[in-house]
Amino acid sequence: MFAKILIANRGEIACRVVRTARRMGVRSVAVYSDADAHALHVEMADEAVHIGASPANESYLRGDRIIAAALATGAEAIHPGYGFLSENPNFVDQVVAAGLIFIGPSAASIRAMGLKDAAKRLMEKAGVPVVPGYHGEAQEIVLLASKAREIGYPVLIKARAGGGGKGIRRVEHPDDFSEALSGARREAKAAFGDDRVLVEKYVDKPRHIEVQIFGDRFGNVVHLYERDCSAQRRHQKVIEEAPAPGMTPALRKAMSEAAVKAAKAIHYSGAGTIEFIVDASQGLKADRFWFMEMNTRLQVEHPVTEMVTGIDLVEWQLRVASGEKLPKTQSEIALSGHAFEARIYAEDAARGFLPATGTLHHLKFPQPAPEGATMRVETGVRPGDAISPFYDPMIAKLIVHGKDRRAALAALGEALSQTEIAGSTVNTGFLAALAADAAFAAGDVDTGLISRHQQALTAVAPPSGETIAAAALAASGARDLPSSDDPWLSLAGYAHFHAVVRRMLLKFGEQEIVACVSVRPDRRFEVALEAPYDSVNSHDLRTAPRLARWPGHVTVFEGAIGYDFAVPDPLARADEAAASGSLRAPMPGLVKLVRAAKGEAVIKGQPLLILEAMKMEHTIAAPHDGLIAEIAAEGAQVTDGTVLVHFAEEPQLTPVSLSTK
Ligand code: ADP
Ligand code: ADP
Ligand code: MG
Repeated sequence: MFAKILIANRGEIACRVVRTARRMGVRSVAVYSDADAHALHVEMADEAVHIGASPANESYLRGDRIIAAALATGAEAIHPGYGFLSENPNFVDQVVAAGLIFIGPSAASIRAMGLKDAAKRLMEKAGVPVVPGYHGEAQEIVLLASKAREIGYPVLIKARAGGGGKGIRRVEHPDDFSEALSGARREAKAAFGDDRVLVEKYVDKPRHIEVQIFGDRFGNVVHLYERDCSAQRRHQKVIEEAPAPGMTPALRKAMSEAAVKAAKAIHYSGAGTIEFIVDASQGLKADRFWFMEMNTRLQVEHPVTEMVTGIDLVEWQLRVASGEKLPKTQSEIALSGHAFEARIYAEDAARGFLPATGTLHHLKFPQPAPEGATMRVETGVRPGDAISPFYDPMIAKLIVHGKDRRAALAALGEALSQTEIAGSTVNTGFLAALAADAAFAAGDVDTGLISRHQQALTAVAPPSGETIAAAALAASGARDLPSSDDPWLSLAGYAHFHAVVRRMLLKFGEQEIVACVSVRPDRRFEVALEAPYDSVNSHDLRTAPRLARWPGHVTVFEGAIGYDFAVPDPLARADEAAASGSLRAPMPGLVKLVRAAKGEAVIKGQPLLILEAMKMEHTIAAPHDGLIAEIAAEGAQVTDGTVLVHFAEEPQLTPVSLSTK
């Protein structure tokens, strides 16, 4: 076994690898960028090396600096985690050339699977069923369009270099083909520097079911059963589970055999995942699944497999990379119970899952695990850490295991409702709504489930009067008291001799709420609210609210939802009013395309420009009819809050409306 390894990653996965390494007596070296100088993975590792500026291409994608750091610290091997350099065969070549070991497959295996088109051609030859489609070299638009017609609509255009759901467009109708193609190409070019695509049949009632495989250097390959990752938004996984609901012995056998065959065809060593798309329109049938792609690395959702098999996949990675045989044979790998993973992201589900940034002023995970379940929280952040625009906005993964699907799902819902995050917009409410969705609970999942139920899953019930009262009390001055976070209690030091009355202004999104807080000498209080809210009296309260106070805000938690109230500073408000006739960038990004011009009259909903942020395209539409006085220039780099469009008339305060195709 290695004495020391370097982890070429950040965030939760770097922390997770450190933990297993430590348990095995292997020392770990972290690498970090400027933004991560004080990050948790740096603190957890035995040593840490600074490798550059915050943007990934100046740090976590700098293979040369990472290899130099490994050599300088005497690490023998490099664990790539997922993302970044994990599927970059040139990096693997450089690692090997430097006399180090890459904890993962050979460069040749990665090359064989790196491009989706070539991988499909290879799998076809190996006798693995492949999604019908065009995966040739020629890329002329006329040819692609005619292939799409041959395949039959709906089709999916996919970046051949794709990953993370980027560069994918579903096309329903031939008329939309060329526009979808340009969008996919632009996104692919920006994310992967390669704009070539393939065209596939869009599978009916698609379910994403993938098989975890593991190989060693002696030609042994085993599978560790399947995971279902059909709960997706924008082709990205949201909640994953193992085993797949409704899985039949016949389909499991066919899929795991195909997965092992695929891995053997490329002499695969290490952890890998074969992703299949399954047509569930007539239930799960053993001949209705097709190879989509192989991820030649550890997968984000690998913990659900660990939970149901009791195997530590990172331990296996280290063993196999150091030259050991697979620790178990196929017959020794058994399935037990059911596991779910929910990906907690800084993002705004109600605004098209727009990624968010911010400082996590308050961060609390459930403790202990819900009854009858085991739980793991995988995170790379602590309270006070920031979600920066530089990297993936994932905050944590919540993984639960129960004796069966129903028990595990109940535990997931409960764990989410006990999670408290304030300081950024997060998706916990959405995840809890999905966990409670009737179709999801019944195991009737397909990749379209979230978008079909999107309205209901992302709708946030307005805060209750009690929630507003708790926020008003916390904001009213009780916050100056050191005693407690619970405003009901902290009122103890608040009113000594006479009643105190304060008029509080709170902002909930764009909505302004006035609350009149009165506290009597006997510590009883009343919070008078305007209609439609009922006033709240201390008699009415049953339980202490869960809340977090942070600069300029109070967040009150109700179930899995954090209601964020801004407590406006009266001086700052003048500015805001002056800018109400403008549309601001909801996040930092690049103005990719401008579709309207200065002086143009536009109508509500009309796309004005495309903002590229977090490597995805976001369409910014007109929030109302109006005349454009100013519009951002194509190619402009904007920060959060930059004015993108200024309207000449009708200064109307409307939230920015966004849609993502
Ligand atoms: P899966 O592992 O199931 O394929 P994803 O495709 O969502 O799931 O995960 C891989 C993606 O995660 C990468 O393509 C990248 O966008 C993103 N990613 C890369 N590095 C990190 C990181 N250190 N932390 C979180 N996400 C990352
Ligand atoms: P990525 O590399 O971005 O993960 P994939 O090829 O794995 O790209 O596709 C991402 C997702 O898109 C899948 O998980 C699935 O939900 C959906 N998808 C891919 N191919 C098809 C298809 N042929 N029919 C229906 N849905 C598909
Ligand atoms: Mg995929």
